[in-house]
Amino acid sequence: MKSTELNALTEQFPLLSELTALNETTWFNPGATSLAEGLPHVGLTEQDVKEAHARLARFAPYLAKAFPETAATGGIIESELAAIPAMQKRLEKENGQTVCGKLWLKKDSHLPISGSIKARGGIYEVLTHAEKLAIEAGLLSLEDDYSQLLSPELREFFSRYSIAVGSTGNLGLSIGIISARIGFRVTVHMSADAREWKKAKLRSHGVEVVEYAEDYGVAVEQGRKAAEADANCFFIDDENSRTLFLGYAVAGQRLKDQFSRQAITVDEQHPLFVYLPCGVGGGPGGVAFGLKLAFGDHVHCIFAEPTHSPCMLLGVYTGLHDALSVQDIGIDNLTAADGLAVGRASGFVGRAMQRLLDGFYTVDDQTLYNMLGWLAEEENIRLEPSALAGMAGPQRVCATASYHEMQGFSARQLNNAMHLVWATGGGMVPEAEMAQYLAKAR
Ligand SMILES: *Cc1c(COP(=O)(O)O)cnc(C)c1O
Repeated sequence: MKSTELNALTEQFPLLSELTALNETTWFNPGATSLAEGLPHVGLTEQDVKEAHARLARFAPYLAKAFPETAATGGIIESELAAIPAMQKRLEKENGQTVCGKLWLKKDSHLPISGSIKARGGIYEVLTHAEKLAIEAGLLSLEDDYSQLLSPELREFFSRYSIAVGSTGNLGLSIGIISARIGFRVTVHMSADAREWKKAKLRSHGVEVVEYAEDYGVAVEQGRKAAEADANCFFIDDENSRTLFLGYAVAGQRLKDQFSRQAITVDEQHPLFVYLPCGVGGGPGGVAFGLKLAFGDHVHCIFAEPTHSPCMLLGVYTGLHDALSVQDIGIDNLTAADGLAVGRASGFVGRAMQRLLDGFYTVDDQTLYNMLGWLAEEENIRLEPSALAGMAGPQRVCATASYHEMQGFSARQLNNAMHLVWATGGGMVPEAEMAQYLAKAR
């Protein structure tokens, strides 16, 4: 974009000067509405999410056998919820700002199979595709015990088909591992920022990894092209997939069930704030959709991005969505938060979800490293840098009176609040790599 164009845009949208200066920025969304008003714009319904729950239940017997680490939960891929009071105190001390209410962590970082939030959407989309192929071929019916998918006949059937995906790392890990286990031939197109150990792990599962010197957008484009050349190849489209989105959305009802087992109340007087690290938007968007369906207007979803990759904030704030990338306004999309290194947001997610999201903010890489170190020290929980993005959110929410006014929160409601930081990855980071992350904390 020419500098005259950028100046005009910045005049119209003053926050752009904060973004281009790479300052940590918070924007509470004046366009946020009630669920009733926002839901019709999503283009997906509660029924769609119910079907996703039912599909995952059909696959549970298969997953319990194919991935023994899921046997304890009956083949349901779900993560734990942890109160983190020591981290709350540490954040308050380090930042000189209280966290109104209580701080909790949702440990998608430790989801089985791939150790990140992508174990929700990525795996769900591959299972959906496998089910469709097998049913169309008359090899499976909805009433069957899906553990028969482990049979050599079905694996041979799936080996005639292939899967392709472009990824910064974690989506490739999820899709690669599940696809290879089912029997698909699978190619993962990896962007430059993808970690070496993720590529090595994929290759050890028999996945073909193609590496690019460019960023996520290029890896996705190349993956899409390669898939177009092969009629038996299915391309998983992280930027536009409704299926991925629905795989993430089941988290909402699951969390609600978890809360009721632990006697945690969410209602008007006990609001729930959820902080979701955002890359292209499918993961946090899908989870937020599921949360809204489960908790209605009592849940408030806030997206977190690196200062160098604020694509969703940029898209929703300007209303330009995927028509504008961070590179267009002179931001480099280079961040240690590799899962969030996305320059152009999903157009689908921003448009679908913008009325149901309370806010967006950016975090500096060094802030991510610091919080990574504090969480390891205080709670002995280790995450990858991306997964800390949500941890900066509660203090932004608690400190911003204009947001409290916008939403009409009373002091009492805020003191009763639960702040749930969605930890999106890190459970499989090798020790040597983790030591390097920890060494960067101050
Ligand atoms: C992919 C990812 C996200 C964000 O998901 P998107 O669908 O890209 O928005 C957040 N954290 C981690 C660790 C991820 O891998």
